[in-house]
Amino acid sequence: MRPNKSDCIKPFGVISGTVGILMIKKPLKVFFHSLLSVAGWLKLKTLQKPTLVILTYHRILPMDSKFRHQEQPGMIASPDTLQCHLGLFRSLGASFVDLEDWLNRKSAGSQLPKLAVAITFDDGWRDNYTYAFPILKAFEAPATIFLVSKYLDTDRVFWPEQVIRHVTIEPQKRPQAIHEWLRDYAGSLPFDDRPLTIEEADVLIANLKTLDDQTILEQLERSTVSEEEPVRQILNSKELVEMHSSGLIRFGAHTRQHFRLNRLTDPLALRNEIVLCKDDLEALGVGTISLFCYPNGDITNQGERFVQEAYLGACTTKNGINLADTSPYNLKRFNFHDGNGRSRRLCFSTIGRSLIFA
Ligand SMILES: [Zn+2]
Repeated sequence: MRPNKSDCIKPFGVISGTVGILMIKKPLKVFFHSLLSVAGWLKLKTLQKPTLVILTYHRILPMDSKFRHQEQPGMIASPDTLQCHLGLFRSLGASFVDLEDWLNRKSAGSQLPKLAVAITFDDGWRDNYTYAFPILKAFEAPATIFLVSKYLDTDRVFWPEQVIRHVTIEPQKRPQAIHEWLRDYAGSLPFDDRPLTIEEADVLIANLKTLDDQTILEQLERSTVSEEEPVRQILNSKELVEMHSSGLIRFGAHTRQHFRLNRLTDPLALRNEIVLCKDDLEALGVGTISLFCYPNGDITNQGERFVQEAYLGACTTKNGINLADTSPYNLKRFNFHDGNGRSRRLCFSTIGRSLIFA
C-alpha cells in the first residue's frame, strides 16, 4: 500500500543516466498521471452498474504537524487532501454513504446509488477526531473508523512508529540491545552512521515484516526512547462517544492488537483478535460493531470463517471498485495519502491506474 513514485516511468529507467532523459522524466510522469487521471475520471463518469468506491485514509495531519516527521509517508494525508477528495466526488454527483448501510441495502436487494462513496479510516488515530471529523461534518459525509481495541485510551504506539523513533535519532543514542537487533534488518542502509531518514526507516519497517508482530513488540519493549511527556496519538473513549453521537461516524473492528492475522498459528489467539475486538468496542457504548478490517490486508481461511461468524462484512487492502455482486468480506478500497492523492489529478490517476492495471 506504499506509493511507488517510479511506477509511471519504469519503462524509461534503463536510459535514465542521461541528462536529457532526466529533463523529460518529470513531464513524462505528469503526462502518464494525466492519462491515468482521464481513464479514472471516464470510468467513474460512465458506470453501467451501481458502484461503490471506498476511500481509505490513516492519519490526517496538517503540513506543519510534528508527527509528519515520525510517520511513514504512505500513512499521511493532509486535511486539504481529504477536503479535495470529498469536493471532487461531490462534483461527480457521488452519494456519500455509510458503508454498513450500503451493504445492508445491497443484501436486501434495495436500489443502490449509481456512484456511492464510503469513507474509511484505519487504526483509530486521534487526528481523525481533530482534523477529519470537522471536514466530514462540513460535507455531511458518513465514515467508518476501524479501531484497534487494546490501543484505545492509552499512550501505546504501534511498532512501526516505535521503530521510526529508534532509528531516526543518532545511532549512539539508541538503546544498545535494540540497535543491535535492528541492525540485522537494516541491509545496506547507513544504520550505524547516522539517523535514518523517514524513507529509509520505511525500508527497515518493510524488512521487519518477515517477523510476526508479537516478536517485534517483545524486542522493542526491552527499552523505549525517552520522551519528555508521552503524547497520546490514538483515539480515546470520549472522542469515540462524541463522534458516534453525531450520527455520522460508525466504528469497525481492526483486531485487538493490530496483529497480522496470517501470522497467528494458534486458532484461539486468532479468534480472540477477531471476535473479542468486537466485544471490547461494543462495551464502550458506541453502537453495534458490524464491520471488520484485515490488518495489512492479511487473512487465512480459518480467520475469514471467524470474521464471517461475527461481522457483516470486511475491508481488504486490495485496490478497486465494488459492485452489487462483490463479496461483502472482500471489499476493495483505494488507500490515499498525500503521495498519491494530494491533487485531483493524482486522485483520479490512482483510481485510473488501479482500474486499468488490476
Ligand atoms: Zn491498520
